[in-house]
Amino acid sequence: MPNIENLEPKLVWKHFDEIRKIPRCSKHEEKIREYIVDFGKKQGLKTKVDAVGNVVILKPATSGMQNKPTVILQGHMDMVCEKNSDVKFDFSKDPIQLKIKGDLLTADGTTLGADNGIGLAISLAILEDTKLRHGPIESLYTVDEETGLTGAFAMKSDMLTGKIMLNLDSEDFGVLTVGCAGGGDSMIELPVKMQPVNGGRENIVIKVSGLRGGHSGVDIHEQRGNAIKLLTRMLWKASQKYEFYLFDIKGGDKHNAIPREAYAKVSLEKNNKNGFVTELKAEEKNILDEIKPIDPKFKVDVVSCEPTKTSLDKTSQMKLLNLLHGLPHGVHQMNYDIKTLVNTSTNLATVSVKENTVVIGMSSRSPMKSALQDMRDRIKAIALLSGAKVSEGTPYPGWKPDLQSKILALSKKIFKDMFKEEPKIEAIHAGLECGIIGEKFPGMDMISIGPTLKNPHSPEEQLHISTVAKFYRYLLKILETV
Ligand SMILES: [Zn+2]
Repeated sequence: MPNIENLEPKLVWKHFDEIRKIPRCSKHEEKIREYIVDFGKKQGLKTKVDAVGNVVILKPATSGMQNKPTVILQGHMDMVCEKNSDVKFDFSKDPIQLKIKGDLLTADGTTLGADNGIGLAISLAILEDTKLRHGPIESLYTVDEETGLTGAFAMKSDMLTGKIMLNLDSEDFGVLTVGCAGGGDSMIELPVKMQPVNGGRENIVIKVSGLRGGHSGVDIHEQRGNAIKLLTRMLWKASQKYEFYLFDIKGGDKHNAIPREAYAKVSLEKNNKNGFVTELKAEEKNILDEIKPIDPKFKVDVVSCEPTKTSLDKTSQMKLLNLLHGLPHGVHQMNYDIKTLVNTSTNLATVSVKENTVVIGMSSRSPMKSALQDMRDRIKAIALLSGAKVSEGTPYPGWKPDLQSKILALSKKIFKDMFKEEPKIEAIHAGLECGIIGEKFPGMDMISIGPTLKNPHSPEEQLHISTVAKFYRYLLKILETV
């Protein structure tokens, strides 16, 4: 295994090499917290731990820098634990094995945990190094970023005093992240009446598959096909011409994934079947013509299935198809300031039948609270038209890009001075801890930055080694100048 301790900056890699040996899957941060707290004590730095296990270490200003404002450095202690199925590895005790190929540091068949282990290592190095010049630092280490942002959610207002925060959990050196989306789920429950089905009919299942799916935030702008929406489109169209009896419908499995597959089961008179299937197939072709550039593998299979004793009655079936067809999915509005950024979107994520109710799950996103609620209100309005009930989960806050931010202006200028090129200013259409922290600490001036990390959350996770040293120098310059 390569020795990373000789890489520069040495203090950063020393900590990264220790961190990689410490088990720290989300919700199991005990050992990494112990490492950080012990470190703080050994350095003689004031260290506090809150009720959920978030840690803050305070480092006073270096000499002559006492008048500088306090800067918060922030990273998360947990990592996503994923491995290839052929790899023997126990995340609860085994140290991550490293490989270096050129400039790339990876693990051996597992996630590397540089998300956010490298952020932790960088801030610990800054706390340890006595030769730096900076104002007061509050270094914040949160728990459980990856599975619900629960550490950030549970933070109390006495944890931090600083008004400037550098989140170290971004994955592209040269990009300054300035915003993220908030989100909220809506659950729609449509009561349906069942009726007995005559014998002697054909029973078929219509199955949509081959779609790319993807993350309902970061992939939504690609306008990939939604299996539930496409299935509905075909059924709705066919319902204008042919009589059929829907007795099951199911699609999607996660609120934050664009549904890749969906099926419906219908029963219909034998003499109706050919026309109905031809109608579906014609619409399949239309859809494929439309979405081929992004979803060339979209396909629809129609096969016989076991007969049913009951189906939705006519009124219920019509209400359901109208509801599913009418509900929005995808990008609703783009951002006015950052033209390539999705502002508001929604994902029609799941549908399933539970006894006499059809349950539909939707997940909406926006950096602006009011726009997010408006999206959810629209969903509710459409659902109410069909006589459905709607319940809404508690939304989590977004982070509205502030292009007038002082820390952004400074970080931009320093980047340009040091590297002779403009950094990119971006925002993401997914949740970040900054959204939650920004809401708890109003007026917090923030950006999110980091060295380059590709394919996080997968065994292909790669840290670009040379960007670590560059990023470290950049970060120190920001701290010195702020
Ligand atoms: Zn992360």
